[in-house]
Amino acid sequence: MVSNSAHYDVIILGAGASGLMCSATAGYQGQKVLVLDHAPKAAAKIRISGGGKCNFTNLNVAPEHFICQNPHFVKSALSRYPSSAFIELIERHELAYEIRRGGKFFCEQRASDLIQILHTECDWAGVEFQLNTAIESVEFKNNQYVISSTQGIFSAYKLVIATGALSFPKLKATGIGYEIAKQFGLNIIPTSPGLVPLTFSDKWQTRFSALSGLSLEVAIHIKGRVFKEAMLFTHKGLSGPAILQASNYWTRGEPIALNTLSEMTEEQVFEALLSLKQSGKSLPKWLNQFWPKRFTQVWLEAFPIETVLSNISHETLQQYAKLLTHWVLFPANTAGYDKAEVTLGGVDTDEFSSKTFEAKKQKNLFFIGEVLDVTGQLGGFNFQWAWASGVACGVALTE
Ligand SMILES: Cc1cc2nc3c(=O)[nH]c(=O)nc-3n(C[C@H](O)[C@H](O)[C@H](O)COP(=O)(O)OP(=O)(O)OC[C@H]3O[C@@H](n4cnc5c(N)ncnc54)[C@H](O)[C@@H]3O)c2cc1C
Repeated sequence: MVSNSAHYDVIILGAGASGLMCSATAGYQGQKVLVLDHAPKAAAKIRISGGGKCNFTNLNVAPEHFICQNPHFVKSALSRYPSSAFIELIERHELAYEIRRGGKFFCEQRASDLIQILHTECDWAGVEFQLNTAIESVEFKNNQYVISSTQGIFSAYKLVIATGALSFPKLKATGIGYEIAKQFGLNIIPTSPGLVPLTFSDKWQTRFSALSGLSLEVAIHIKGRVFKEAMLFTHKGLSGPAILQASNYWTRGEPIALNTLSEMTEEQVFEALLSLKQSGKSLPKWLNQFWPKRFTQVWLEAFPIETVLSNISHETLQQYAKLLTHWVLFPANTAGYDKAEVTLGGVDTDEFSSKTFEAKKQKNLFFIGEVLDVTGQLGGFNFQWAWASGVACGVALTE
């Protein structure tokens, strides 16, 4: 517990992934650090992420896994604190982990084990915490940052904003970081929900509602990218890893194209349909090799064709092969911030040094983590960004 008026070298707003990493790094270097957060516990998002097992990093982290108006911005921090550095940290604490498809690292047991490691690091580094603390105002006076809060007034020479973004408001996410950025004249790139389910029209929902809960391996083509993963039918539309990945690149009004036979090209499907035609074998039986039966049934109701293809023209078969491999869908919307894992957009990275994360036009003010206009793909990239930006800033705080 701290007194209700105290001075620090560094105050960090936000006890999430980036704030914890930054505070431990700065604390180890002798900085007197206070972390303020309005939540009752630190790291709520880590706790529930990855189905409670937290996908905390990825084997193959590269700048192309991130969306940012300045694609070069992420390079410095990611190269100075690669995923191997975070893995080395958790191995030192003997955390058991597993590596899943796509090089995704998860805790073997519980995400809370990872939070415990971060708490231990912060304890060893002498970091102080003030949780349950709502921020009332941030001022820059006499070369110091003065934070008025529901728990008193705190001041520091350096201020780090690690308050995350708008996704999952039920976990205490707020836009305070953007408000502070605006207060200091920093530009904001417009925000929108990312890694989020997509919703469809009522008509579409009626047509495919019988599939709710069904998962299908697909390849989604969007803006020159292909995501080959599972897709999940929901009551309102589509979700699952493939759709969440695509949502980061989707703009309202645009289509997405699905290959429902993700291991085959249009030509291979056409060839397969031709040989079904010649052999007189049934199309549903062939489709059932790749799809759950329920999907085959609903698909054939939605896109009818003779079950035996003997009398179907080559041209029609060609069109059907195209439909199967390029099923063009027009989502109506996203499921919004309530269901989004991340927020696209944020505080413009051009306002900061990519090495120190200090604002170019406001001395000793730093922004890290998701509050910035940096969004990772699904796969542990968002946490890796939180760790890497937190460490880079933590090191810079002593310079
Ligand atoms: C459901 C879900 C699952 C996810 N799963 C994964 C995953 O498996 N792998 C992955 O890489 N990423 C995942 N993410 C994304 C990841 O959680 C975030 O990118 C990451 O937590 C961002 O770290 P951060 O430190 O920037 O912000 P956060 O971790 O969000 O921390 C921000 C902190 O600031 C505090 N705060 C906010 N507003 C205020 C205020 N007004 N006053 C005081 N404090 C405030 C919050 O309470 C919070 O503690 C997931 C996100 C969600 C929502």
